[in-house]
Amino acid sequence: MQDNHLPTAELQALDAAHHMHPFTFGAELAEKGARIITRAKGVWLTDSEGEEILDAMAGLWCVNVGYGREELAEVAARQMKQLPFYNTFFQTSHVPAIMLAKKLAEIAPGDLNHVFFNGSGSDSNDTNLRMVRHYWDLKGQPERFNVISRWNGYHGSTMGGGSLGGMKGIHAQGGLPIPGIHHIDQPDWWSEGGDMSPEDFGLARAQQLEEKILELGPETVAAFIAEPVQGAGGVIVPPATYWPEIQRIVKKYDILLIVDEVITGFGRTGNWFGSETMGITPDIMTCAKGITSGYIPLGASIVSDKIAKVIDEGDEFAHGYTYSGHPVACAVALENIRLLEEEGIVERAGKEIAPYLKEKWEALVDHPLVGEARIVGLMGSIALTPNKATRAKFKAPGGTVGYICRERCFANNLVMRHVGDRMIISPPLTITKAEVDILIERARKSLDETL
Ligand code: PLP
Repeated sequence: MQDNHLPTAELQALDAAHHMHPFTFGAELAEKGARIITRAKGVWLTDSEGEEILDAMAGLWCVNVGYGREELAEVAARQMKQLPFYNTFFQTSHVPAIMLAKKLAEIAPGDLNHVFFNGSGSDSNDTNLRMVRHYWDLKGQPERFNVISRWNGYHGSTMGGGSLGGMKGIHAQGGLPIPGIHHIDQPDWWSEGGDMSPEDFGLARAQQLEEKILELGPETVAAFIAEPVQGAGGVIVPPATYWPEIQRIVKKYDILLIVDEVITGFGRTGNWFGSETMGITPDIMTCAKGITSGYIPLGASIVSDKIAKVIDEGDEFAHGYTYSGHPVACAVALENIRLLEEEGIVERAGKEIAPYLKEKWEALVDHPLVGEARIVGLMGSIALTPNKATRAKFKAPGGTVGYICRERCFANNLVMRHVGDRMIISPPLTITKAEVDILIERARKSLDETL
């Protein structure tokens, strides 16, 4: 295919003049000019100047099957021709939504057998928030209104999702959090564990949940929501003691557990779901991103038998989006799951690529700037520090060095994200060992240039 577009400088000027970017400082972008991506294949992006860039972020943690899969485009085109849209409101349904719900019920853990479709991860978490409160209303316990989540967790940027998340920068804009959302600390041992062992720290952080429940009154708490492994917060892999203790506590107080698998779902942690990797049994699972490998927007709340029964037998659940169960998105998701399954992409990523990447990634700690490397499956991060022994922070404002490193990566044709002074990877699950080698070589070069 021939690229046929305006010159890069003209595109950048139009972009700055008319396009408002998410999570971007607009004036800075206007001055620098956006890098314009025009095509992609496998793990490789091509920009408007013809440069090839290794995308170690799979877009935004989502292109699990890699770029350029014709099968997904063909399925989308076929579905658009046959039935481009129909809603699933008011006693109608359609084949793609039915078949995808069935498939998700098969692959989701435990008794998560019911699917409410949404348009994204954020609005899936809005659905979850309303659903758990409605559930307790229907159970005759309307005072169970509070939902507990974690500081530095990420659950989206809508009013509900942004409130459930614990990102203070998001809360500072637009009147978040909304009422009834409460936060406890995250289980980031390396950054916050001090002299404690990871095991003791994991227990202590989980026990904050019990403290918060007791502070609010157990009879007022509807649910706890968390990511199995925090992604946007910096790939925070909790100590082994954390999740068992969380599960003991939610069970003790009969509190619903919402596990946000928007990043960790569909193979990212080496298993189909992060819940399997971390040994979690959720009541509701949030999915988006990898459900379609990002080829088209789709979110899903996958719900247990227990909750679905109460919701289905109650009043009308007065909630839904025009695009809940969009037929084209559902058809693409089904095909995406078929590729992940039939080509053994999840299995290969977990068994072959994850151990190889782990060895190379963890070896980056020999670099003078790197204090810690952590990784689970195909999601990893490294902490940049001026002093490994003390885990010190840089004198420059938080995130400055991470930002410089990200810029160096970009200049070296590698996409890594920075979260403060942490560098993140989450490549397509289809990455090869040879491409892992290129990723590591470019990361090392960029770290050298950041010093
Ligand atoms: N939940 C988690 C764990 C996420 O990482 C994200 C996005 O990164 C979201 C929710 C929000 O998803 P979306 O951006 O599709 O609204």
